[in-house]
Amino acid sequence: MNVYLDNNATTLVDPHVFAAMEPYFVQKYGNPNSLHHFASETHPGIKQSMQKIYAGIHAKDEDSVIVTSCATESNNWVLKSIYFQYILTGEKNHIIISEVEHPSVISTAKWIESMGCKVTYLPINHEGLIEAHSVRDAITDKTALVSVMWANNETGAIFPVEEIGAICKEHNVLFHTDAVQAIGKTPVDVQAFNVDYLTFSAHKFHGPKGVGALYIKKGKELIPLLHGGAQMAGYRSGTLNVPGIVGMGTAMEQAIDSLEFEMSKVREMRDAFEDELLKIPDTFVVTPREKRTPNTILISFRGIEGESMLWDLNREGIGASTGSACASEDLEANSVMEAIGAAEDLAHTAIRFSLSRYTTQEELNHTLAVVKRAVARLREISSSFAYAPDGHVCGLSEAH
Ligand code: PLP
Repeated sequence: MNVYLDNNATTLVDPHVFAAMEPYFVQKYGNPNSLHHFASETHPGIKQSMQKIYAGIHAKDEDSVIVTSCATESNNWVLKSIYFQYILTGEKNHIIISEVEHPSVISTAKWIESMGCKVTYLPINHEGLIEAHSVRDAITDKTALVSVMWANNETGAIFPVEEIGAICKEHNVLFHTDAVQAIGKTPVDVQAFNVDYLTFSAHKFHGPKGVGALYIKKGKELIPLLHGGAQMAGYRSGTLNVPGIVGMGTAMEQAIDSLEFEMSKVREMRDAFEDELLKIPDTFVVTPREKRTPNTILISFRGIEGESMLWDLNREGIGASTGSACASEDLEANSVMEAIGAAEDLAHTAIRFSLSRYTTQEELNHTLAVVKRAVARLREISSSFAYAPDGHVCGLSEAH
């Protein structure tokens, strides 16, 4: 049985999304900027799709939503633009991010840092959460931007974006949030929360890969990303990715329609699955489930290298992860586990299961059985694990 439990890395394209995109490859393939009917027949599809995208995040008509190639691009754009607008000019000298942002934010921040900008990396607490007061404490009169993700890709932890947005507004600091893991899992409303820039990516909510977006609140300018034919209001030139826009619009509509299901049914299935996993001795979950997106579990099995567990799961048809997709090929510790200061033997043993609205109970039952077998097998051969005389399992440090 094949079971896909790596939906925080990417998702299956919803069949409705695929069907909506198809005509824009072989029938309505005109360049939207041309002056003939091949172009104009793409316009209604683009317009409707953009309306669905605006509605999905509660953007106002006067705001801008610029379609990009991915969230990595959107995140790079915001931080680099802030650098050129405020840091290079000497107007400001500081930005704030969290230490568990996606690499597309952290690496860009480090690049800006190498160019002379001060960067504060906010810590997470023992529950894997950012505390809003730490943002307030870090802001100075030279702070140009706060960039804190809406939900973490590894733990699913939902960060206090509402409070952080309010703090930024109070101090007149721009606020960017990477909402890649939030769309379709928790309500995202850029009006209710004071968000100036918001990043998302279609392939994380059952849309196609290679298309994402950046929301820019009216009046909060960024420098254009790509100069050329002035598409996307001059922010990002280049012929529009029409099938991608239609795919993202349809996926956004489906994500909003499914939000209730995700927050009730998927959550219920996740919780029941997690209850069973936690019955296995010496297992640990960091973030309390009510503070997480409904689909995510990051769980540590003491004594078992995450990669060994992935191998056993994969052999039985199950796809999971040890953390962020980009980090799965090396044997580094899970970065969130490291950030909370987890002991080495726990930081290396984290496995992420991320469900979707397509996950079935049968798939979870199969996964549970495989996990139990894998834990028994791997602990038996683990060099960092021992059985105490009473049969209770413990780490070597406890046994000696
Ligand atoms: N931000 C977060 C929180 C993510 O989880 C990811 C993907 O893993 C990204 C950004 C990058 O997304 P994309 O693949 O669209 O560049």
